[in-house]
Amino acid sequence: MTSPTLAPSSVSIRGGFAVQERRATLVDTLAELKRVIAESEATFDELASTDPTVATARDVTKGRLAIGLATHADVETALRRLDDGTYGTCERCGAAIAAARLDALPYTRHCIACA
Ligand SMILES: [Zn+2]
Repeated sequence: MTSPTLAPSSVSIRGGFAVQERRATLVDTLAELKRVIAESEATFDELASTDPTVATARDVTKGRLAIGLATHADVETALRRLDDGTYGTCERCGAAIAAARLDALPYTRHCIACA
């Protein structure tokens, strides 16, 4: 996973919220998530050593966490793209992403043809 952008940029208000505040919140949330995941993995590993059902639960939970973290990274990228003016443009083909697609999936990076 890529690291969140920590460098400050000019204050920008888009869609009724401050991009910098939203970014700071997301970066803090990501750090907290990573801390909680590390703690949970240590606990799971300890319990799984004596109970095989815990090992299964651990694996399912790790999968869910991976999806959540990937989504979090996509949201962070969307906020960066809002800030740099590239939000709503497909990263693959450069076409505008349909508004309906952005309404349904605000952090999408690709148009429907490239998805
Ligand atoms: Zn595209």
